[in-house]
Amino acid sequence: MKNSFMEEMACCKCCPRSCGINRLAGEKGFCRTGSDIPVAHIGLHHGEEPPISGTRGSGTIFLAGCNLRCVFCQNYQISQEFEETGYRTLTPGELASEMLRLEAGGAHNINLVSPSHLIFPLADAIQLARKRGLAIPIVYNSNGYDSVDALRQIRGLIDIFMPDLKYLENVTAGELSAASDYPDIAKAALREMLSQVGNLQLDGTGVAKKGLLVRHLVLPGYLENSRACLNFLAHFSRETHISIMSQYSPQYNASDYQRINRTLSEREYNSLIDYALELNLENIFIQECNSSKEYLPDFQREDPF
Ligand code: SF4
Ligand code: SF4
Repeated sequence: MKNSFMEEMACCKCCPRSCGINRLAGEKGFCRTGSDIPVAHIGLHHGEEPPISGTRGSGTIFLAGCNLRCVFCQNYQISQEFEETGYRTLTPGELASEMLRLEAGGAHNINLVSPSHLIFPLADAIQLARKRGLAIPIVYNSNGYDSVDALRQIRGLIDIFMPDLKYLENVTAGELSAASDYPDIAKAALREMLSQVGNLQLDGTGVAKKGLLVRHLVLPGYLENSRACLNFLAHFSRETHISIMSQYSPQYNASDYQRINRTLSEREYNSLIDYALELNLENIFIQECNSSKEYLPDFQREDPF
């Protein structure tokens, strides 16, 4: 394992966009972020799945910028409009100190939200924090649009992978997230993640220690895509833990897209849960169907939740 991965930023292939630009020299690619770590919010978060939030909360680090451009993004203030919303830039050493502060505050884990475009500086921060005694698991909470090569390079640093599986339809992925190659990329990333950490393992109190938890946000009007995702996961591994999320609400530019310009109905969500049960998926997390407002953050407030 290298001591520092920073040299990778000189020809950026952090994520599957493979822009090849020199972030160390200030060049910016599709994600518009530099080589320091842009952080939008750090704090204990209780709104994740029970094995991640536990009783004391997940030590969440919301990173600014993103390598997808989802038209419905509920975090658009920090993923797309981060220059306007504001953020701080931290060095890997400074982020390592924040990780240790979260652990001292009782966090069950360190939860890196939207890490894909920053995988190498984050790897440096994790290594520094481990050297300084960080003992809790690291959660890689990504959109699933991850580079297998980058994941292989940092093998051993992540304890819990929590990727999305958003789409298995190329046209939909292109239209809604500007990544028509998302399906193949995400399938390969999930395989790599499973090979690194295996299925989700919980401690005696039900808190996650290690493993894979896949999230799928159900989009209204795209139930066929959701069924394809569940079907893939059933063949991927029946034991995979899957969070089937009903919390969609039409944010950001969603009003320009008729099919997703509404919340999900209870009937639509229940039909998907029935489908997951028919597929014999063994480990699924479900949400209350009226949860769409509960999860909407406002990153212009000190506490966004
Ligand atoms: S929904 Fe997630 S993946 Fe999509 S733009 Fe927002 S932060 Fe990025
Ligand atoms: S991380 Fe950003 S600059 Fe690097 S390849 Fe991905 S989109 Fe391009």
